[in-house]
Amino acid sequence: MGETRLERLCIEKGMKMTEQRRIIARVLSVADDHPDVEEVYRRASELDSKISIATVYRTMRLFEDEGIVDRHDFGDGRARYEETSEEHHDHLIDVKSGRVIEFHNEEIEALQERIAREHGLKLVDHRLELYGVPLTEPDQKR
Ligand SMILES: [Zn+2]
Repeated sequence: MGETRLERLCIEKGMKMTEQRRIIARVLSVADDHPDVEEVYRRASELDSKISIATVYRTMRLFEDEGIVDRHDFGDGRARYEETSEEHHDHLIDVKSGRVIEFHNEEIEALQERIAREHGLKLVDHRLELYGVPLTEPDQKR
């Protein structure tokens, strides 16, 4: 596998890239979901059985402090991580299955900026999480 975006970012930020940090960076770079630390550890262990969960915790903290991964709380008490993306997106969580859907909506983006402006602020960041359950037949007919 070639160098992933996350590994490149680490190097650009001047972080010392140990083999274990590289592995954790790779796990996060290829993830298309929002794994918690245990899941990152499980995936990293498949690549290097000597990795400890403490190393994964420490590395995730470091990556977060460096601003290259985002930590989320999707309401189940577990911190979830994803590589900071270039394109902004928000999250819709199916609370029944735990599935996380990523979305981007221009109307919501514009509305948030308007709300901030109305309160005399220029919006610089936001987080939006929506929680839902699957629609049932009667819901869909409405
Ligand atoms: Zn996401």
